Amino acid sequence: MTNESERTGGESTRRGRILVFSGPSGVGKGTLLKRLFAETDFPLVSSVSATTRAPRPGEVDGVDYRFFSRDEFLRRRETGEFLESFEVYAGGALYGTLREDVETALERGDWVVLEIDVKGAASVAAIYPDAETVFIEPPSIESLRERLKGRGSEDDAEIEKRVAQAESELAASGFYRRRVVNDDLDAAFEKIVAILSE
Ligand code: ADP
Ligand code: 5GP
Repeated sequence: MTNESERTGGESTRRGRILVFSGPSGVGKGTLLKRLFAETDFPLVSSVSATTRAPRPGEVDGVDYRFFSRDEFLRRRETGEFLESFEVYAGGALYGTLREDVETALERGDWVVLEIDVKGAASVAAIYPDAETVFIEPPSIESLRERLKGRGSEDDAEIEKRVAQAESELAASGFYRRRVVNDDLDAAFEKIVAILSE
């Protein structure tokens, strides 16, 4: 275990925490995190990731993501600005967590929420061994497919891609400190609140 003073070089100020949430697309991460922000008093802040994908309708630069061109993303990666960065879907856009944003929030004492994929989570856990890592699981693959259909934001081919990706993410998720099955939404929410209250 690395304690706060080891990591900060001996400072005694109370640093914040890193909270990593992952889970397959459609499992309910967004729904659960929205409730966590709205219904609890934890000092939570969202880390705004960078991505090379195009903004979706309604998404705001600097709020939902920092939208970078591929060239700009690669240039920033070269200069070490990212804590972690990956191509989440093979052959697709790049996504990454900006190191300075996370460090600034930690120094303020905030609890920084990272909603990132399994590869990114493994990198963050290696850099910050104290990070709380939570993997949200669907009750079954079939229920995941139903939720994605119900959300209505992807077509059938895209849904099947996400379901296939879910299976590989589940297989690679053994290193998370916590697992929460999002079957009953209220029960999953309470479980997350209990984890963060420990
Ligand atoms: P993610 O952010 O993980 O991609 P969302 O939060 O967008 O997932 O949820 C996907 C869909 O599943 C949404 O339509 C949401 O309302 C629904 N959903 C979330 N949690 C549950 C649950 N426990 N039971 C049934 N449906 C759920
Ligand atoms: P979307 O394009 O639907 O917003 O996000 C797709 C996936 O990218 C999600 O599973 C999300 O967890 C992941 N993701 C978002 N930001 C980051 C990031 O900064 N790093 C990593 N590794 N994954 C991210």
